[in-house]
Amino acid sequence: MENINLNNITTERLSVPPFHEKELRVFILRLDKVHPIISGNKWFKLKYHLEEALSLKKKTLVTFGGAWSNHIHATAAACKINKLEAIGIIRGEKAGTLSTTLTQAKDLGMKLIFQDREEYRKKRVPEDMSTGDYYLVNEGGYGEKGASGAATILQYCQEQDFSHICCAVGTGTMTAGLINSSETSTRIVGISVMKNNMALSAEVKKLLIDPAKEFDIIHDYHFGGYAKKTTELIAFMNEFYTHTGIPTDFVYTGKLCFAISDLARKNYFPPGSKILLIHSGGLQGNQSLGKGTLIF
Ligand SMILES: *Cc1c(COP(=O)(O)O)cnc(C)c1O
Repeated sequence: MENINLNNITTERLSVPPFHEKELRVFILRLDKVHPIISGNKWFKLKYHLEEALSLKKKTLVTFGGAWSNHIHATAAACKINKLEAIGIIRGEKAGTLSTTLTQAKDLGMKLIFQDREEYRKKRVPEDMSTGDYYLVNEGGYGEKGASGAATILQYCQEQDFSHICCAVGTGTMTAGLINSSETSTRIVGISVMKNNMALSAEVKKLLIDPAKEFDIIHDYHFGGYAKKTTELIAFMNEFYTHTGIPTDFVYTGKLCFAISDLARKNYFPPGSKILLIHSGGLQGNQSLGKGTLIF
């Protein structure tokens, strides 16, 4: 497997029409370049968990996720690199054929345990494991350690003095890390990829060093809900790739880039704003799309 390479991260200027017209300087931080398939932000979110698991001399790391989870995929890879055994507790009954994500996680050495949705909701390890000596990571890597890892993301950005930093939001862990590590003059704008997940702001606040620091979570760009898509979104992603050469994923970064272009058109950002988009990776999820859906 190819190694993680943080030196591959670049900060690129995006010169696509709405940004030009609205006098916005927009950059994108390419965490997707950390690895061809491991989601950039998941790597950051796992960093301190791995350190902790190793320092506690744990042999096994357990976490939770769905069949197309970037977190499961990245955890499997991260454990392999760090020589930890990985166990993934997977939402839903085992399907006849495994998703590409789960097949790859398994090939990376992760042991998969399937739980029906009701059981999964309790986020419990199976009873026969409950006395085991393992290190547990929350679903999606939510929590303080994940946020601390995400707080190191901006160290890899070659530009500074942003008026806005924008990212896709799942659990809110990355958003919290960005808020904790950015200048007070920078506004963090999170695009929720879930439908009406109004608990998000509170989830982010729980992880803030300064809970008074303001941020925005925008709920208008979910395209039907988590991992849902429309032809408009897919067309946008193809067009964005044609203009910029940058691939996005349909669960997170495609929605982020669509949202920021749309918000720019609607004058959400004052002229002269300097905006950073976080390309958080996640490209492995596109493997669930039919061949030919995307041009990249
Ligand atoms: C998981 C993920 C996110 C969301 O991160 P959270 O910390 O859960 O909010 C964003 N982008 C990609 C590509 C992801 O895989």
